[in-house]
Amino acid sequence: MNSASVGRFAEDVVAWQKKHGRNSLPWQNTRDPYRVWLSEIMLQQTQVATVLAYYARFLQRFPAVANLASAQPDEVLALWSGLGYYSRARNMHRCAQDVVALHGGQFPRSAQLLQTLPGIGPSTAAAIASFCFSERVAIMDGNVKRVLTRVLAFSKDLASTKNEKQLLAVANNLLPKKNLKQTMPRYTQGVMDLGATVCTSRKPRCLVCPVQGICESYAEGDPEKYPFKTKKLKRSVEHLSLLWARKPDGSVWLERRPEAGIWGGLYCLPAFTSEEALLTSLPERSRSRVQYLPPFKHVLTHKDMHLSPVIAGFSASQNMSSIGAIERGRWFLPGEWQLTGLPAPIRKLLEAEPDQ
Ligand code: SF4
Repeated sequence: MNSASVGRFAEDVVAWQKKHGRNSLPWQNTRDPYRVWLSEIMLQQTQVATVLAYYARFLQRFPAVANLASAQPDEVLALWSGLGYYSRARNMHRCAQDVVALHGGQFPRSAQLLQTLPGIGPSTAAAIASFCFSERVAIMDGNVKRVLTRVLAFSKDLASTKNEKQLLAVANNLLPKKNLKQTMPRYTQGVMDLGATVCTSRKPRCLVCPVQGICESYAEGDPEKYPFKTKKLKRSVEHLSLLWARKPDGSVWLERRPEAGIWGGLYCLPAFTSEEALLTSLPERSRSRVQYLPPFKHVLTHKDMHLSPVIAGFSASQNMSSIGAIERGRWFLPGEWQLTGLPAPIRKLLEAEPDQ
C-alpha cells in the first residue's frame, strides 16, 4: 500500500463509521471503561444479539465496578449462565476486584497497564484504551484482522506469531494521526463495524465498501482468500453420564465443578465417564430403579459433548455420601437451583423435568 493510501484508510473508515456504522448499541457513546470492558468481554465468542440482554442485566445488578467486585462468585456465575466460556466470568470478577484493590476503583488509562488485569488481553486492552482514553493503539480481533489482511492483501500465514506481529505493526501504521480524541474511538469502532457488516468472511460487500478504492485484495479479484491461517481447530468428543439424583420433594443434587476445565466453578449434575461408573456410585437399592432419559448432544467450539442423563430416586432421609463427592455438592430445592450458575444444557434439562 502506498503512503497516500495509508493516510486515506483511517480517514475513509472514520467518515464511513459516522454515517453508516453501528452507533446505537447500548455500550457505545460512552467513555466509561467499566461499560466498555463489560461489553468487550461479553462480545468475545458471543453474538451482539445475545449479549444485549446479558449486558442490561449485569449493569442493572452491578451498575459500577465496585458493585461487581463485592459480589459473591455464585451470583456472578448465575448472571453469566448461558453465555458460555465461564472462565470469562471468573476473570471478570477477579478483574473488578483488582481494579478496586490495586487501582482505587479506576481502570488504568493505557493499553499496556490494562493488560496486567485478569482476562484482559491485548485486543480488549486496545479497545478500552482507544474508546475511553483515545490512545493510539490498534485492536486486532478476528473482524479487524480480516479487514486488514484484505485491504493489504497480506498473504502470510497468521498461524505464525512473527506474521501476526508484522500485521500488528502495519495496523499501527494505519491508525489516525490527527485529532485523536475524536478519531481514535470512531476509527476503532469503524474498523470493527466494517468487518462485522461489510467485509464479512463470506461474500464481502465490496461494492458498498468505503475502502474499496485502496483495497488490494479487491483489485486482485479474490478477497475471500484472506486471511490465510493454517492452524485448524481440532474438535474432540466427550461422552458423559449425568446423575440426576432427586428426592420426593423435587430436590436435586448438584455439585460444583472444579475451577479448571469445562463449566469450571458452576454447579452441575454429577458427571461420570461411563454409565457403569455412574451406576456403581449409587447405593445398591437405588440402582435397579433408575430411569434413563434420551441422550443428547451439546456442541461447544472445540468439542461435541454427548450427555446421557440418568434419574435416580432418593428417599427424603438418604444422603449422597456414597458417590464420594459430598464435600462439593448439596441438595437444591425446587426454585433454588434456578438462581444458581448452571451450564446451559443442564439448566435446560432440569427445566424439562419429567414426572416423578
Ligand atoms: Fe473487504 Fe471488499 Fe472492502 Fe476490501 S473492498 S475491505 S475485501 S469489503
